[in-house]
Amino acid sequence: MFRYETHMHTSEASACGGSGGAEMAVKYKEEGYTGIIVTDHFFNGNSCIPRDLPWEERVELFCKGYEHAKEMGDKIGLDVFFGFEYGNGSSDFLIYGLDKEWLLKNDHILDMELTDFLQYARSCGGMAVQAHPFRDYEYIRGTVHAPHFVDAVEIINSSHSVPEFNERAKIYAGWYDLPVTSGSDAHNTTNRWYGGGVLSEVRFGSALEYMQAVVEGRITCIE
Ligand SMILES: [Zn+2]
Ligand SMILES: [Zn+2]
Repeated sequence: MFRYETHMHTSEASACGGSGGAEMAVKYKEEGYTGIIVTDHFFNGNSCIPRDLPWEERVELFCKGYEHAKEMGDKIGLDVFFGFEYGNGSSDFLIYGLDKEWLLKNDHILDMELTDFLQYARSCGGMAVQAHPFRDYEYIRGTVHAPHFVDAVEIINSSHSVPEFNERAKIYAGWYDLPVTSGSDAHNTTNRWYGGGVLSEVRFGSALEYMQAVVEGRITCIE
């Protein structure tokens, strides 16, 4: 079985990230993962990329965490794929299958309504997963549930300290008969290690291949 991380952050792009992409890659390799998908917070999330730079520069900086992870992954034998976490401050959606080129060309995506964005990203060939749909910590102002605008639901987010958050997500995915995913949402290599991710019988060549396996029910979620 091949083990993949589907949701993780780096300090190059996420303000809450505590370790760089290269360091994260080494940690995942040590933990026995075949590959990782780097999903840093986009500019509308907890981003550390300065807002006053030109779009191109912001995107370049945003992709650094992934690029450093990829560079290290190529050296140590860890597959590294690109994704991003798009949100409105309370609701987060993991986007797979779109790349830096797409971001560079789409400087209008911050002006879009959340579901308009999801529709647009998917029409461009991307796939969307609602991340931690019931992360109901007190600081969360309210979550948008958009079951008709996503390809899957993250039912295990192993960073949660409240088990009910994942239990509710499983029920939610069941209501809408949506495919399910698991991710750690790891932000560093130093705190307790989260685990999480998915197992697959086949090795993925891209983030999109991973998502195809998700919608076809060919992955197993791990806690
Ligand atoms: Zn974060
Ligand atoms: Zn996250």
